[in-house]
Amino acid sequence: MVRIADLLAAGPTYSFEFFPPKSEAELNTLVHTLRDLEPLAPSFVSVTYRGGAASRQRTYDLVTGMLHTTSLVPMAHLTCVAHSRLELAEILVDYAKAGVENLMALGGDPPEQLAPGGAAPAEGAPGGAPGELHHAVELVEMARVIGGFSIGVAAHPVGHPASPDLATDRRHLAAKLRLADFAITQFFFEAGEYARLIDELHALGVDRPVLPGIMPITSLASVPRMAAMGAAVPGWMVERLEAAEHRGGAASVRAEGVRLATELCQEVLAHGAPGLHFYTLNRSSATREIYRALGLAPELSTAG
Ligand code: FAD
Repeated sequence: MVRIADLLAAGPTYSFEFFPPKSEAELNTLVHTLRDLEPLAPSFVSVTYRGGAASRQRTYDLVTGMLHTTSLVPMAHLTCVAHSRLELAEILVDYAKAGVENLMALGGDPPEQLAPGGAAPAEGAPGGAPGELHHAVELVEMARVIGGFSIGVAAHPVGHPASPDLATDRRHLAAKLRLADFAITQFFFEAGEYARLIDELHALGVDRPVLPGIMPITSLASVPRMAAMGAAVPGWMVERLEAAEHRGGAASVRAEGVRLATELCQEVLAHGAPGLHFYTLNRSSATREIYRALGLAPELSTAG
């Protein structure tokens, strides 16, 4: 299997995030999305996780299914929340046995909250137990002991909401990233926030690759949800989206959202980002349009 750390060492990576379907309808949507996105030849794809037995199986099935039936390189998300040490070790061993070598090691959110970072929408309580590991860094340590994983961790450009201050969050992130191979950020909308994150990690002596997480805003209705999910849409962006609505309604808002996301991608790449990670929410069209606008779509690159 291909290890993401090796891909990143070889050059920029372009990746997509999905959540495991919970119904026939969601499964159909995902199947169509995968069919649309596979020709873009993403470097890897990642599959989110919610603590608990049902989600554990869904993520495992999707990751192993992708590994064995598609050309995609999958990465499994795993969270500390709601699992004992033993359960987490079992899950890691199961992945290792199935040949899954790419792991996103996360703290996780309490099940009643929406997970930021493009994770699956929340589902029912996973069994009550708060979990024996408290921070993602402990899961990274456990995965290292089991061995063989290429490990990603989450980074929060403006700091994790639970952190007492940004400097403390950066120190914890630096400690976690020293043990991991790479990070993927929570979505953000200002390139300067990504640049600051990279500069501050560098000042702490950490230069591991940090992939910017990109979340296209394709409707005005999604704007208020973004703040609840982890990053508020800045006023200047809302103004551009509203101006687009006045010009041409929903289709125009969507096109402006794709333009804004494309501009953000260009800015972070210009800052030296080692690739891009797209939060797809299991839809393909916005990601495909941004890909095309960036000249990353295969049909455009072969056409020159
Ligand atoms: P941690 O690294 O544990 O950090 C959480 C908080 O604890 C921070 O404030 C940090 O500063 C602090 N901290 C860290 N280490 C220590 C320490 N040693 N001592 C004291 N404090 C410490 N959630 C899901 O449920 N499922 C998913 O699939 C999922 N995928 C995600 C993918 C990405 C790319 C991102 C960015 C987020 C994802 N999330 C997902 C959301 C994530 O689980 C939440 O943001 C969660 O609240 C924090 O996760 P973390 O891995 O950053 O946790």
